[in-house]
Amino acid sequence: MNGERTIGFIGLGHMGRPMAANLVKAGHRVLGYDLLPELLGTAVGTGMEAAGSAADAAAGADAVITMLPAGRHVLGLYREEGLLAAARPGTLFIDCSTIDVADARSAHEAAVTAGMRALDAPVSGGVVGAEAGTLTFMAGGGAAEFAEADPLLSVMGKKAVHCGGPGAGQAAKICNNMILGISMIAVSEAFVLGESLGLSHQALFDVASTASGQCWALTVNCPVPGPVPGSPANRDYRPGFAAPLMAKDLGLAASAARAGGVPAQLGVMAAELFAAYAEGAGAEQDFSGIVRALREQSEPDTARDGAGA
Ligand code: NAD
Repeated sequence: MNGERTIGFIGLGHMGRPMAANLVKAGHRVLGYDLLPELLGTAVGTGMEAAGSAADAAAGADAVITMLPAGRHVLGLYREEGLLAAARPGTLFIDCSTIDVADARSAHEAAVTAGMRALDAPVSGGVVGAEAGTLTFMAGGGAAEFAEADPLLSVMGKKAVHCGGPGAGQAAKICNNMILGISMIAVSEAFVLGESLGLSHQALFDVASTASGQCWALTVNCPVPGPVPGSPANRDYRPGFAAPLMAKDLGLAASAARAGGVPAQLGVMAAELFAAYAEGAGAEQDFSGIVRALREQSEPDTARDGAGA
């Protein structure tokens, strides 16, 4: 796909709106649609055209991009809300939402059965990356579909990796975020243990960040204030990557693990811990704020002794 294209863009929330705005900036014609009229109105201010429905956004488009909350929204649009029926045969459907691998494969199948082509292309990089056009895309589908989508993905992101066939993009996304969720808990537990041993945050950081404990959760998104000035811990855990989104991604990883008979014990435990945190104090906080929940669960020996006395 070279040159300017007409793109139907459905789902203009936190991520979709800036992604679509970057396509407009690159010279593409974007027909946008969202169920919430106020979001559609704001999006029009960035230069895209408002479609009357999702099907209207797809009609006449060269490619249709969806950025929706969950698999049921994608499948609902594909199967029941006439999105596939409205498009020209052979239109490329790119789903950038983070959804279940099985749902992504069902969406591919529905698109292909309707005479369309499909790619799952979830993203990493958050709202900041969506605004700056620096997202990373993980794509699943055919090589030809990936090659056709690449010029659009490179407008919205800095890197796109073709991970394999249908669903492979979603698989890469949930596996990566399972590493991240587990490692954030590991780093947080280490800081809380260090506190109980009288170790300063800075001392632990200076050692672990240059030793074998080094990881993104420590050196970029450090869960305690101080060692990494830009991390959300320094602004009272304002996201960043919100805890409910981490809980969602870990839930997808845990259900994929169950379906595949993979124990993924730490992944399942991380899903449970983040689900509890996201439902409570973490509802509007960065996922690194889980350090506070873990700290609150600590019970010093003296308290335990007292409780037992
Ligand atoms: P959001 O809730 O802000 O946006 C989703 C939008 O989809 C909403 O505006 C909603 O009205 C719209 N929508 C739902 N059903 C629709 C339908 N049938 N027709 C038209 N519009 C519909 O969510 P978001 O933060 O933009 O995230 C979107 C996706 O990207 C999610 O799958 C999320 O997991 C993933 N993601 C988000 C982030 C992040 O930092 N926000 C990072 C990476 C991936």
